[in-house]
Amino acid sequence: MTDTLTPSVTQAASSSPVEQVRRIVTEIPGPRSRELQERRNAVVSSGVSSVLPVFIARAHGGIVVDVDGNQFIDLGAGIGVTTIGHTDQAVVEAAAGQLNDVIHTLFTITPYEEYVRVAELLAEHTPGDFAKKTVLVNSGAEAVENGVKIARKYTGRPGVAVLEHAYHGRTNLTMAMNFKAAPYSTGFGPFAGDIYRAPNSYPYHDGLSGAAAAKRTIDYLEKTVGASDLACLVVEPIQGEGGFIVPADGYLPALQEWCTATGIVFIADEIQSGMARTGAYFASEHFGLVPDLVLTAKGIAGGLPLAGVTGRAEIMDASQPGGLGGTFGGNPVAAAAAVAVFEQIESSGLLAEAARIENTLRPALERLAAKYDIIGEVRGRGAMLAVELVQPGTRDTTKEPNPAAVTAVTAAAAQQGVIVLTAGSYGNVIRFLPSLAVSDELIADAVSVIDDALAAL
Ligand SMILES: *Cc1c(COP(=O)(O)O)cnc(C)c1O
Repeated sequence: MTDTLTPSVTQAASSSPVEQVRRIVTEIPGPRSRELQERRNAVVSSGVSSVLPVFIARAHGGIVVDVDGNQFIDLGAGIGVTTIGHTDQAVVEAAAGQLNDVIHTLFTITPYEEYVRVAELLAEHTPGDFAKKTVLVNSGAEAVENGVKIARKYTGRPGVAVLEHAYHGRTNLTMAMNFKAAPYSTGFGPFAGDIYRAPNSYPYHDGLSGAAAAKRTIDYLEKTVGASDLACLVVEPIQGEGGFIVPADGYLPALQEWCTATGIVFIADEIQSGMARTGAYFASEHFGLVPDLVLTAKGIAGGLPLAGVTGRAEIMDASQPGGLGGTFGGNPVAAAAAVAVFEQIESSGLLAEAARIENTLRPALERLAAKYDIIGEVRGRGAMLAVELVQPGTRDTTKEPNPAAVTAVTAAAAQQGVIVLTAGSYGNVIRFLPSLAVSDELIADAVSVIDDALAAL
């Protein structure tokens, strides 16, 4: 098959270092990317869209290099997946070593140590000092599905509570758990039932204290479904696609207290916020939460597909043998990579690196907010920061969403070699999810590009 690949694609296998600088050498997208885009349009479903149609040939640290030789500062990290950096050498070596040892057996036929090691590391690093067990799967949505399955089995109850602005995936069950219909679920029904969506805490918009917002959420769920019919409450400690919404102090602990008192399994979807992203292993720690179950995916294996459900042993063991699993779940190569990610978090002090990024990026974004009144709020934790853009003159009043400005800024940034992602139920949030390998210099450079883009509006 190699002879059918373009030269630039075969070059991707080379391991020459990627200089950590932004460099644009063609128009964006460049000629080779445009050629590939045409081929793609002919054979890839248009249901799979891309934010930026530049085809990536190589990546390292915080930089991705396209097939035309343009180098982008990557502030998206594949939506918070390459948290420890692109092609981190420890991950590359662990995965390569594992490829030579064993690629697949299926853990449910004949097990292997790497799966067990990942479960040990998750038990050690997820919040809570009690016996924990894990099931490994392939994707975030699959982790959510399994979390719900396990909670239903354990409680014998059907209902699933979720929050406004939540995002949990694209499978049938998770489509029904998302807040936003378009584009995730429009036309894809019928959807799973017994899902109840409650108001969340969104301090910039609702102005409520954590206690008041929690009372509103709990009253709503008590009224519309009743705790005794709820198997679980699934929350993202910091909401991801919803716009990096950080709940008011006390909100999540009050929800957890209610769940504990009423026998509802409290599930933290840490798929985006977990694995050192926010300066803690898990964002739950910032709020003093000890979830019954923690869902992981995205950053757990340095870019390889892996996800997990980890939690209280008695809940995780409620399932009958054979009830959990799947052909590729906990694949040896992905599991070996995950072990390397955990080791790197410790040996390279990556929790502190997330704090370093916050200390550099947050003040820079706050300086932009002082300069541009369409920046309504700067929020987030660690290397999970966002700005919400509003219509001019509304940031202290009606806070009208300004998705057009977000589109313009992210498009202009891409032209200058900065990949930055959007978020928010109204498309009016710019989210910053850099890898923890991004230097302060690259952050400063990227912020100056965004500053120019805001000035040009
Ligand atoms: C990305 C994401 C998911 C879904 O993960 P996939 O691997 O894309 O299925 C679920 N929950 C949250 C919070 C996410 O950010």
